[in-house]
Amino acid sequence: MATCEVCGNHYDQSFELRLGGEAQVFDSFECAFYAVAPTCACCDNRIAEHGIEVAGLFFCCAHCMQHYGLVPEFNLRLSRTGEKVSMEVRNILDSSQL
Ligand SMILES: [Zn+2]
Ligand SMILES: [Zn+2]
Repeated sequence: MATCEVCGNHYDQSFELRLGGEAQVFDSFECAFYAVAPTCACCDNRIAEHGIEVAGLFFCCAHCMQHYGLVPEFNLRLSRTGEKVSMEVRNILDSSQL
């Protein structure tokens, strides 16, 4: 019997989720998702899919990334996979001042 870190429920089928070596206890995937899923920097949705990570920011999709002012060209990687894809990211605001 363990207590969920999100909702405080005591549940005999609670489980541990280990992220970066640190274990957290949850009673459901819903609570685990709420606790650990990154939030889109553009639309504030929790990201359930791979998403896109750019310079420490997470986006749920390419549309959100572009809406935020980033153009895909290089140095993008899929969040949580560490897998590099050949795209470049450039800030429209910065490049317009060149
Ligand atoms: Zn819970
Ligand atoms: Zn989004």
